[in-house]
Amino acid sequence: MSRIVVVGGGAAGLELVTRLGRSFGHKSNHEVTLVEPSSHHYWKPRLHEIAAGTFDTELDAVSYLQHATCNGYQYVQAAMAGLDRETKTLLLRNNSGQESALQYDYLVIAVGAVSNDFKTPGVSKHCLFLDSSDQAQQAWQQINPLLRAEGNHRISIVGAGATGVELAAELAKVSAKLQRYRHGAELDITLIEASDRVLPAGPECMSGKVQKALLKQGITVRTNTRVQRAEEGKLVTAEGEIIAADLQVWAAGIKCAEWLTQLDGLETNRLNQLKVDANLQPTFDSNIFVLGDSAECPQPDGSFVPPRAQAANQAAGHLARQFKRLLKGKSLQPFIFNDGGMVVAVGHDYAVGVLMNDKLVLRGRFVRNLYDTIFRLHQRVLFGWGRVTALVLLKRIKCALNPYYKGNLS
Ligand SMILES: Cc1cc2nc3c(=O)[nH]c(=O)nc-3n(C[C@H](O)[C@H](O)[C@H](O)COP(=O)(O)OP(=O)(O)OC[C@H]3O[C@@H](n4cnc5c(N)ncnc54)[C@H](O)[C@@H]3O)c2cc1C
Repeated sequence: MSRIVVVGGGAAGLELVTRLGRSFGHKSNHEVTLVEPSSHHYWKPRLHEIAAGTFDTELDAVSYLQHATCNGYQYVQAAMAGLDRETKTLLLRNNSGQESALQYDYLVIAVGAVSNDFKTPGVSKHCLFLDSSDQAQQAWQQINPLLRAEGNHRISIVGAGATGVELAAELAKVSAKLQRYRHGAELDITLIEASDRVLPAGPECMSGKVQKALLKQGITVRTNTRVQRAEEGKLVTAEGEIIAADLQVWAAGIKCAEWLTQLDGLETNRLNQLKVDANLQPTFDSNIFVLGDSAECPQPDGSFVPPRAQAANQAAGHLARQFKRLLKGKSLQPFIFNDGGMVVAVGHDYAVGVLMNDKLVLRGRFVRNLYDTIFRLHQRVLFGWGRVTALVLLKRIKCALNPYYKGNLS
């Protein structure tokens, strides 16, 4: 009997426990446990929809408790707070602050990453973040009154990566819809980026097309603009310029939580990601695996697996197969990320994507459908095709009957 404990039920961790639970949970004596502080799973690349009031919680949120029961794994609602590798014990802390211990034979850490404020003064106090569903809901609670008020309101978004671009475009779309209903404010959205192009971590061929689509939606894009500090109602740039706003969102860069640097000798890089080898393991502990955004995993060409949803999903599928090998006493195979391209949504009916090693750049409504397919593939792992088909049909019907802007997320 082996106890496999997976910490973090996000894009990587939830797919992994689903696969492992189905393989081992019901019919073998291996035990699979998910440790996750939240009660529900939200697909992180859609958090901007929660912030903009367009997310359908009824259809697209997953209850961990229910999912665990149906898929053969245990769910412990708590956060990992420490590790003792010698006794193979995790320290857990629940939402009321109570501590407990959990033992493992194999531990998988998949706790993701958060935005990086690069220690910019004032950012944590004066900016909103979109790193968790709670933060996205907090953002929505502040954006909603702005959208419904009369007059003109300004929103600044720092960071023109996928998060910043998708949020800016979604807000512009919602604002335009409300204007059509002759209700609500005009939003003046400014997207601020320190580098010389939007999507600085993506292929260059995408940036121009995405920027053009943003400008067409009335969004002001400011590249080569480094924010030096944030204050109440304003951002101050390195040149001393003041960018005033009613609301400021920080969506720049990524880094992992500080506590990962204090995990019983596990090595981290400057972004606090845990360093692993190609087998997704720290070189000196064969009972631990790390995957998704919290891992720095090398690739054969010397690069590292990128912090993207697609990479997290592939790593989860790979590790599920490796566990089957491991528990049969076979050797592990390395994880090699197969980059299937990148798609970024620019509003709910337009997206830009690159495929075939950046050779093919596509844009338009059908690319937006491709973007949705990535989410549906994630749901397929969690529920199977039958339920995903039902969800897609239900969504179509609801979209035809209900307004795009829900505005009443509970
Ligand atoms: C708004 C937004 C838009 C994005 N858009 C895209 C996109 O278009 N394309 C793309 O490829 N990527 C996108 N990303 C990035 C993508 O979401 C991540 O790369 C992906 O979710 C990483 O998966 P993960 O499993 O490593 O981490 P996550 O999905 O972040 O999951 C981590 C989980 O760990 C849990 N956790 C955290 N701390 C603890 C703890 N102490 N103990 C236990 N559990 C813990 C969290 O609650 C969470 O459930 C976007 C991200 C955001 C925020």
